[in-house]
Amino acid sequence: MRAAEHPVHRTGTVLTGRGVSPGTVCAPLARLAAPPVTSPADPVGADAGTECARIDAALEEVAADLTRRAAGADPAAAGVLEATAAMALDPTLAAAAHGHVRAGTPTAHAVTLAVEEVCTRLVALGGCLAERATDVRDVGHRTVARLLGTAPPGLPAPGHPVVLTAPDLSPADTAALAGSDVVALLTEQGGPTSHTAIIARALGLPAVVGCPDAARIAPGTTVLLDGGAGTVQVDPPPAERARARGVQPAGTAQPTGPGRTADGTAVPLLSNIGTEQQALAAAAGGSEGIGLLRTEFLFLDRTTAPTRAEQRDQLVRILRAFGSRRVVVRTLDAGSDKPLPFLPLGEEANPALGVRGLRTAAAHPQVLTEQLHAIGEAAAQVGREVDVMAPMVATAAEAARFAGLARGAGPVRVGAMIEVPAAALRARELCEAVDFVSVGTNDLGQYVMAADRTVGALGELLDPWQPALLDLVALVGEAGRDTGTPVGVCGEAAADPQLAVVLIGLGATSLSTAPPARDAVHAALARHDRDTCRRAADLARAAPGPAQARAAVATLLGGT
Ligand code: PEP
Ligand code: MG
Repeated sequence: MRAAEHPVHRTGTVLTGRGVSPGTVCAPLARLAAPPVTSPADPVGADAGTECARIDAALEEVAADLTRRAAGADPAAAGVLEATAAMALDPTLAAAAHGHVRAGTPTAHAVTLAVEEVCTRLVALGGCLAERATDVRDVGHRTVARLLGTAPPGLPAPGHPVVLTAPDLSPADTAALAGSDVVALLTEQGGPTSHTAIIARALGLPAVVGCPDAARIAPGTTVLLDGGAGTVQVDPPPAERARARGVQPAGTAQPTGPGRTADGTAVPLLSNIGTEQQALAAAAGGSEGIGLLRTEFLFLDRTTAPTRAEQRDQLVRILRAFGSRRVVVRTLDAGSDKPLPFLPLGEEANPALGVRGLRTAAAHPQVLTEQLHAIGEAAAQVGREVDVMAPMVATAAEAARFAGLARGAGPVRVGAMIEVPAAALRARELCEAVDFVSVGTNDLGQYVMAADRTVGALGELLDPWQPALLDLVALVGEAGRDTGTPVGVCGEAAADPQLAVVLIGLGATSLSTAPPARDAVHAALARHDRDTCRRAADLARAAPGPAQARAAVATLLGGT
């Protein structure tokens, strides 16, 4: 029997999950609605005239709703919403749906068929028109939901703050979170390095993941979510509600000067960035640079590959905002839990172990070379060097091939991410093939523990304090020291202030975190000298497990 069939309704019940982004919020729960499904076997409605009029009314309501939302949105989002509203009023869509109704198709299914026909035509036309297919599908889902009387798909927009709950959130689900009504995230699945966790930290949204009982809370119930403790209290008493406090949005952290240890060793504290808006906010908020620009996040909803000019122009805007500060652009990390519609990779039994990241270049070499040329052109246009790195590098030979391609495309420093245990074990050879390396502890943790990072039940194995993971980071630190290669850490491990101290002790020379985490990491490093960092690293590696590692380091460092 499904958990949702046993709703949690007892006032004050506390559910536990894994807290992955701190902050306490009290708000009603809202569920991410799945797109409605229609079938040719659905019951047929009234006469064709009446059903066509229902379709027209639903399309008009969808357009009016989108236009209303555009009025309250920021200029970029407003543009998209207005364009989508125009799609709902396009007579071609209505005419196609009417045709199906007159042929005897059930009303909502007629809309589904019409949407698919319009999308097929748009995709065949290619370019910008193909991009509109996503908007037409969105209009179709909303129209069908109205016809069926179900909740509109996607993020809830009730006009007041809500805690969003879902089984898990895909990168595409989270694309519209910034500036929405959502003030916290609660998922049934997902671990500390899942994309829900990453996005929550980037946006400064309190979040609890891996809480299967979330499915049992009825939508509309007020919950007190504590993203630090990993708890969710159902219908909290008034005294508890007072614990909720405001959320600090991304990019508003006060500049605290460059990162350094107590004895003055510079540790650049860079930002992990997934949208142009985040990049501009981080630049304005005093970030020391970008340590990880997740370019796949810039193009999640694209059905056709972004053009070289488009990629170049976007990067030019980001580079200009950062002036001379370091910017590390990661080439598309598509595949596995980050599918990109314009990079078809085929069905795989184990996508995390399959064709993803740099490996996609074998099937789609032009996508990588176009991106590298776009990066090279942007660097040349702004008149500065740019760092470019590849995800999912397994061998030094792959790193060397990537370096050759990247250097041929413009003035770039080349890096390799270390996310595969083989790359960490042979870090010295990798360091010799590139100008810098960056440890992706999220994937390195999933691969060294053989634990899928999207599976909440494996949260303990995915704990970034796992000594086995730290051993691999230590190998990379040593290789970096011996070869004079800078070693960054851009996985979520760098955002934990005490673990940041450990990572410096293991040999990391820069850290990259979601912008809201920067101040706490900055403060922790400023309190401890390099020698203490090394002692913290030794203690963590000597511990039998993550909990003991955390406790031993906490005893050494005190309240960081
Ligand atoms: C990582 O794996 O640690 C990383 C930074 O990359 P992503 O989380 O985008 O896979
Ligand atoms: Mg990764």
